[in-house]
Parts: sequence; C-alpha cells; structure tokens
Amino acid sequence: MKNKSLEGRCICGQVKYKLTEKPLFTQACHCKDCKILTGSSYVINSSVLENTLVIDGEISSSVELKGGSGAPCIVYYCGKCGTYIYTDYSSAVGRLNVRTKTLDNAHEFPPQVHIFTKDKDSWLNLKDNVICFEKMYDPKTTWPKESLERYKMFLENKSQDTNQ
Ligand SMILES: [Zn+2]
Ligand SMILES: [Zn+2]
Repeated sequence: MKNKSLEGRCICGQVKYKLTEKPLFTQACHCKDCKILTGSSYVINSSVLENTLVIDGEISSSVELKGGSGAPCIVYYCGKCGTYIYTDYSSAVGRLNVRTKTLDNAHEFPPQVHIFTKDKDSWLNLKDNVICFEKMYDPKTTWPKESLERYKMFLENKSQDTNQ
C-alpha cells in the first residue's frame, strides 16, 4: 500500500526513504545540542521502530556523537548535501529517530510534546495547550497506549529472534 505521507528525502534527493509504519511518537527538542546540530531553535524528531525505516539509495555518512544523556548516538546524513536523516541513540533499543521534517508530509506529524524547554528560546512562544517538559520525559507515561503496545510487541519479537 502506497502511503505518501510516510515517504521522505534529503534536500538534494540522493537519499530517499520510507516508513512502513507511522511513527511511534514525535517530539520537539529545545536542548542546546539540538540547537547547534540544526542551527535553529529546536529539532523535531519522530521515533520509529528500527525495522520500519527503509532507505532507498545510500546514506554514505554518519558521525558518532554524545547524546543528551551522555550515551553515544550515531547521526546519519546524506553524504552529498548533508541533510540529517536520522539518529540511532544507543539508549533507545530497537528505535530510530527520524528527522520529522524530512518527511514529504511532515505536517501530519506535529510534535506531541516539547522537551528540554528549560533551554527554549525566550522569544519563542508555545501555545498554552502544548505539553512541555523541562528536560526529558518518561515514554511510559507520555506515549499513547497504541505506541507503547506496538513498541512492546516489537521488543518481544526481537528478543525471541535472538534467543533462537
Ligand atoms: Zn542529499
Ligand atoms: Zn535535544
């Protein structure tokens, strides 16, 4: 089934990708690292199951960085134009964080929460009904039940696979 809203690409078009399932969760991060990494006030990332990201073409470039928690993460970007496509956080088992705005229909996935708002730029005003966290949040109490179940099932299948 073709789902246009789940296709994405870098700015030069060398890297195209699709998600075979909708993201688990989308968040905006206002931390200082994300500001440097984007050159902007915040980043929007969508957490997806690692087996639902299908890259068409080749992501030739990656760099290992330290994530906010101090645990390493690997950033994958287009080797030609430098568009940052996704991050693999070692702390997020079985998940990848896709840069939401690289999706063709990214407007369908607005941030469900804003995190590290302690570092939010003071001139940036969020609406009152937006869910904000000073720092990190606990997915167990924040994600929709459907996403938690999908992630749990994935991890169960994954551990069965590796036990065989
Ligand atoms: Zn590119
Ligand atoms: Zn951040």
